[in-house]
Amino acid sequence: MNQNIDKLKTWQNIESQYYMQVVNRLPVVLVMGKGTLVWDSNSNKYLDFTSGWAVLNLGHSHPVVTNAIQEQSKKIMQMTNLYYTIPQLGLAKLLADNSCYDRVFFANSGAEANEGACKLARKWGREMLDGAYEIITANNSFHGRTMAMMAATGQKHYQEEWEPLMPGFINVEYNDFDKFLEKVSEKTCAVLLEVVQGEGGINVPDQKYLLSVQKWCQEHNVLFMVDEVQTGMGRLGTLFGYQKFGLDPDVMVLGKALGAGVPLGAFLCKERFSVLSPGDHGSTFGGNALTTAAGWASAKYIIETDLPAEAARSGKYLYSMLEVIKDRHDIEAVRGFGLLLGLELRKNKAQAVIERCLSKGLLLNAVRPNIIRFFPPLNVTEGEMNQAIKILEEALIEEKI
Ligand SMILES: *Cc1c(COP(=O)(O)O)cnc(C)c1O
Repeated sequence: MNQNIDKLKTWQNIESQYYMQVVNRLPVVLVMGKGTLVWDSNSNKYLDFTSGWAVLNLGHSHPVVTNAIQEQSKKIMQMTNLYYTIPQLGLAKLLADNSCYDRVFFANSGAEANEGACKLARKWGREMLDGAYEIITANNSFHGRTMAMMAATGQKHYQEEWEPLMPGFINVEYNDFDKFLEKVSEKTCAVLLEVVQGEGGINVPDQKYLLSVQKWCQEHNVLFMVDEVQTGMGRLGTLFGYQKFGLDPDVMVLGKALGAGVPLGAFLCKERFSVLSPGDHGSTFGGNALTTAAGWASAKYIIETDLPAEAARSGKYLYSMLEVIKDRHDIEAVRGFGLLLGLELRKNKAQAVIERCLSKGLLLNAVRPNIIRFFPPLNVTEGEMNQAIKILEEALIEEKI
């Protein structure tokens, strides 16, 4: 045991000596994952209800994904996008065939894909809307941490230290169509919204709000863009979140679960909005053969096995279990749907609760000081959900909640 603590200390010392200190890490070194489970360097087992950050919708190291990576790595992993590769072609067609979109651009991350979508929006504004360049985004949104996406992300604490921000992004109240109307103008070229805000606290908007924004955009020839980096690939119980709300957005941005564990993002648009031309955009790694092989295999599996329907069923079950917990403890609300759920506490004790859960073998995340997020793999089992709820309840009791 002492030896194990020494070993952990050694790893922690390396981190504290060599890393830029941008995150407060929990005292666990993870060495293996399988399905919903991960193991640390001391062979302790944990239920991963974070899915490697909404990435592992098939769970850790699913054979469909590892086989695709293995096979592709022996053939060809990387070329410049001056040439065609088969996995990229396959994934592009699969995404188009299963969405309302016609064209795709592959990037390496959510932030980067959002950047590309915003470039498309600016070009649209320049060519079609008399040079309009402003992009409306929401308060409490999250779109990534690049220079432009900090301006898009409507949260002061991501912005304050980095001013002056990139101009042209207007943050407005989420789920409030009147406030939205106050900020739009002839300068607006696009709107970029999450269909459910993930990092912002699992905020579910009214369908009517999203439909009103969409309608306004259609009437004004302004791009309606959805950031589905967190909600895409089945998490909300439909392949894409916009489908759940009956939307028909012009542009969609994907990331996280698209690569199933390797870095892959994408933005897609309808034919009519496909204004980028050769030289306008590019990426060295974006959509290389290795990442798109993983993404293609994973997306095919999600679609063929109707994993979104399973996420919807499991999401209902987990939600009902959280409701039971809510009734038994001092808890404000259960939030979200599908397998993107939140538990809103009345006190700012989310971090204390997740640290207790960690020591009992359950990985969770506090999106807000008072909100705990649950986003397990979409194929999480009922037994795993029961086990997680049991651990959660023990932690709540210990925190006197
Ligand atoms: C995580 C996230 C991003 C950023 O993705 P990165 O891959 O970390 O750049 C963007 N938008 C949403 C909705 C996200 O959840």
